[in-house]
Amino acid sequence: MKLHCEVEVISRHLPALGLRNRGKGVRAVLSLCQQTSRSQPSARAFLLISTLKDKRGTRYELRENIEQFFTKFIDEGKATVRLKEPPVDICLSKANSSSLKGFLSAVRLAHRGCKVDIPVSTLTPVKTSEFENFKTKMVITSKKDYPLSKNFPYSLEHLQTSYCGLVRVDMRMLCLKNLRKLDLSHNHIKKLPATIGDLIHLQELNLNDNHLESFSVALCQSTLQKSLRTLDLSKNKIKALPVQFCQLQELTNLKLDDNELIQFPCKIGQLINLRFLSAARNKLPFLPSEFRNLSLEYLDLFGNIFEQPKILPVIKLQAPLTLLESSARTILYNRIPYGSHIIPFHLCQDLDTAKTCVCGRFCLNSFIQGTTTMNLHSVAHTVVLVDNMGGTEAPIVSYFCSLGCYVNSSDMLK
Ligand SMILES: [Zn+2]
Repeated sequence: MKLHCEVEVISRHLPALGLRNRGKGVRAVLSLCQQTSRSQPSARAFLLISTLKDKRGTRYELRENIEQFFTKFIDEGKATVRLKEPPVDICLSKANSSSLKGFLSAVRLAHRGCKVDIPVSTLTPVKTSEFENFKTKMVITSKKDYPLSKNFPYSLEHLQTSYCGLVRVDMRMLCLKNLRKLDLSHNHIKKLPATIGDLIHLQELNLNDNHLESFSVALCQSTLQKSLRTLDLSKNKIKALPVQFCQLQELTNLKLDDNELIQFPCKIGQLINLRFLSAARNKLPFLPSEFRNLSLEYLDLFGNIFEQPKILPVIKLQAPLTLLESSARTILYNRIPYGSHIIPFHLCQDLDTAKTCVCGRFCLNSFIQGTTTMNLHSVAHTVVLVDNMGGTEAPIVSYFCSLGCYVNSSDMLK
């Protein structure tokens, strides 16, 4: 029985000697071995740890030699086995969690001296080919190289499958829990499964040149919120992104070129880490008011259908404010938490898409809307010209929660 993972063997004497471990595992093949000899008829059980540098491996006696198992993070493919003699902690990581569970239960049996009811390995050196399972990077750029019968190595951190004619995301990819970078560019994918959000380490997702029409709310609310830094959705057919898209707070690099976007998500200013934004050749008529809050290094909005700012504002003020309007304003202003478990779902949607006044307060249905031009240099260091005329200005919408706010800031509308 074998297990592929990263291993670090830490001596418990190290801290006493004032030394520290490296904190980094090496790739290894763990084998559970049994050995019988004439002098000792009962089988002895060993854990054999082989690495690329040491293929013969190091043996550790298992029978009645385990002090403790640490398995709190076993679902993340991590566990530690503490041995009595020698006094070491064997830290396992980046393992396939179900293989790890199976392996550890066999180790537990060996420790108790029970007969292990699975094929145990012999004490032979591990072949170099076995370490190929540790591949961390795989690049496939043609249909004929795409693995149909073989699984992807579970240790992959970077997977690219481009020009493979994929119409959907291969479910086998979603089991690659170590994946940091997934490149599915130049395929025919129409829809993304929400389970992409289960790839907890995914930092880079490239979907350039596919047939996507949307990016789901479920994905926006998945663990991608904590991991995703780079997202390339260029050359798809996306018309709009959900308002929850702005909860992908770690995004630093977002490419939306060559889609059919008619608007940015209204809360785009919440993407506080965003540095590179390109949405060239879309159908944006104007920018949302929150666009002002961005702080970018690079911005490309070339080739959109920006409209001339309207001279007359749209006035939708209620007097007096409806009960809905004033309660919504109060909830948002006081940052009172809400959710569909407390209030109807449509009210949550209203609150999610509330407009921000220039005064920082919020409004739902009672507001004055004006458009003005903004120089894009005010939000980005490097700005690609928005048209062939050399312009770097674009129309932006502003909202005012009251006549007072409008009058006070009417200068900026001139
Ligand atoms: Zn206001």
